[in-house]
Order: sequence, then structure tokens, then C-alpha cells
Amino acid sequence: MKVLCSQGVGVYSIRDRIYNLKMNKTAFTSIVLVVVFAGVAAGVLYKKSANECPRFFSPVMAAEPYYEGELFDAHLHLPTAVKAVSTVAIRIGIPVPAWDDELSLEYLHCLFGEEGVSRAYGFHVLTRYFPSLEVKKAKEMDKKYPGMITHFLMPTMIGPNINPDVSTVRKVLAENPGFFRGLGELKTYDGKKLDDPYVLSLIDLAREYKLIVMMHPFNEHKAAVEKIVRQYHDVTFLFHGIDYVKEEGEGDIRDNRDWLKNLIANNDNVYYSLEGRLPFYGWLREHKGEAVPKEKLLPYVKSQFDIYLKEDTELFKKMIEAYPDRFLRGTDRMHRPHFDRELSALIVEYSRAFIGRLAPSVQEKYAHENAEKLLGKE
Ligand SMILES: [Zn+2]
Repeated sequence: MKVLCSQGVGVYSIRDRIYNLKMNKTAFTSIVLVVVFAGVAAGVLYKKSANECPRFFSPVMAAEPYYEGELFDAHLHLPTAVKAVSTVAIRIGIPVPAWDDELSLEYLHCLFGEEGVSRAYGFHVLTRYFPSLEVKKAKEMDKKYPGMITHFLMPTMIGPNINPDVSTVRKVLAENPGFFRGLGELKTYDGKKLDDPYVLSLIDLAREYKLIVMMHPFNEHKAAVEKIVRQYHDVTFLFHGIDYVKEEGEGDIRDNRDWLKNLIANNDNVYYSLEGRLPFYGWLREHKGEAVPKEKLLPYVKSQFDIYLKEDTELFKKMIEAYPDRFLRGTDRMHRPHFDRELSALIVEYSRAFIGRLAPSVQEKYAHENAEKLLGKE
């Protein structure tokens, strides 16, 4: 009996244990399911709000200290939606690539994610040919990745057979109210003066549609710039490319930093973007107007990284710190090789090293806040 009893006890005990085990199993399974479900839900939410390409920063130049926060690219040339425009552009020495399977919206979005670039002012080249296709592509971009690009319309000033009429630019703006936030980069490749009627008509449009005017003046445009920013004091101007310029031909350096400083000091509506002078557009005469392949660019740019970083810091640190609300960080990526993962990462690393050398209180402003503020705190 005792044995039975004990067996009995034993039986109960085993049943209990099985019961408990079942309970535990059920509870365990429930917990697992809850955890898995929560994980999936979190994953879905994450994918909705974040870039699918996780950010990583693995510097190759050992140029500490690096700024590791968020970046805004205030100067980004986007590929064209029209293959024929790209073909002609390459032929005339402004090698704008076309969007394709390789250089796709998805690819650019992923590149941004990896590099920690949240947003960009993106320039859509506008010629007299198929403007509606460029607009369509810009809209597609916005639908797929809302907010990634702040759209700027870039009417070319290359020649009469290519440049869009002012009426075309107006039509694009009128048909897409509020979609474009800027005009530019306005750069007169065709020798126009900046106070040329065509340019002034564009600025009139910018005033009417409340657009930022992004302009690349040349040395000989300085007087016109001074006049325009006063004449259009209610328009926001974003300049670049005239701070410290190597003149073509004679190779003289034009140091316009004092001129720029005065322009900024005297005009509240003037902002300036710096892209760093890393020579990823080429460095030899034969490179002019060419998209220099990555294989050539990468080793040379690396070899010049420290030299330019030191120079850029000496040239611009003081000025940015003196006017911390007026300078924006850009890249000026345009040619196809500039979007190559390795080269683009190096361009971004350069930015991070440069920003890392600025006073901590101005780093975030220059890196992204000023560009955001210019859009009216979106
Ligand atoms: Zn540019």
C-alpha cells in the first residue's frame, strides 16, 4: 500500500508535473508568440519610419575627431529622368547621369541611410526638352521617400538650343504649387551676366513663388551679386563656389573670403554652402568636363584628403564660427562616380572630419540645422 500509495502519490505527482508542464508550455508558447508578434510589429513600424539601410560609419582616413551626428546635403545634383538629356550633357562636358537600374531612387535612399544623410536639396536639371518627365520623376521620389529630397528646379544656362524658356519654368511652377522650394543651381555656363534679363526673370519667379535662389556666381559676377541681393532683399539667396577660387588658365587663386564675409554681414538674406574642396571633379586639364572614373579618383582623392582638410579648416573654420547661422553643408555630388559607395563614403567622411574641427556649438547648425531652418522649420 505504502508502495501503491507512494506510487499513487507518485502518479499524482507525475500528473501534476505533466499538467504543470503543459501549463508552462502554454504559457511559454504564449510568451514566445507575444514576443515574436511584438518583434514583427516593431519591425514593420521601424521599416516605415527608418531607412532600410542601417547607418554605418567606418572611416578609412583616421582623421579624428569626426562629427557623428545627422547630415543634410544642401547641394546635391540629381540624375536626369531623360536619357537624351544625359547623352547631350555628357557630350557638352556637363556629365549629368540619367536615373537607371544602377543609379536608382532605391540606391540613393540606401546610400543616404548608410551615410547618415537625412535629407538633401536636390537639383533637377531642366532643359527645354521633356520638362514634364523631370517633374514626374521628382513626384515619384516624393511618393516613395517623402521628405528625403527638397526639390529645386535647375534651369540650364548652357545655350539657346538647350535652355528652357522662362515661360516653361513658370508653367512647371504654376502646375505644381508648393512642390519646388528652390531655383538652382543657377550657373551661367553660357557667359550670361547675372543681371541678364533671363536670370532676373528667374529671380522674379523665385520671388513670386517664394523659392530659395541657389546660385553659383563667378569672379566677374561679384558686383552683380551685390546688386541683386539688395534689389531682391525679400528673396533668400544661397550661394556657393566663389569663396576661394582657382582661376582657369593662369591658375591664380582668387581669395574672395573677405568679400563673402561682407556680403553675409551686410545682407540678411544671404546664405552660403560649402562642399569642401576635395578634388573629386578631377585635377588635371584632361579631366575637365569628364566624369573621371572612380578607379582614378579614389586613390588620388585619398592622397589629398589630409592636405585639403587642413587647408579647408584654415580657410573656413573662422568664418563659419563667426556666422554660424549662415553656412550650410553640401557635397556637390553630380557625376555617376560620385554616387559610388566607396567614393561617396569618402566624401561624407571628409565632411565629418571637417565638421569635427568646428566649434561644438556650431557643428549641428552647419551639418543640418541651418538647411532645415531655411525651409521654415518643417
Ligand atoms: Zn553644383
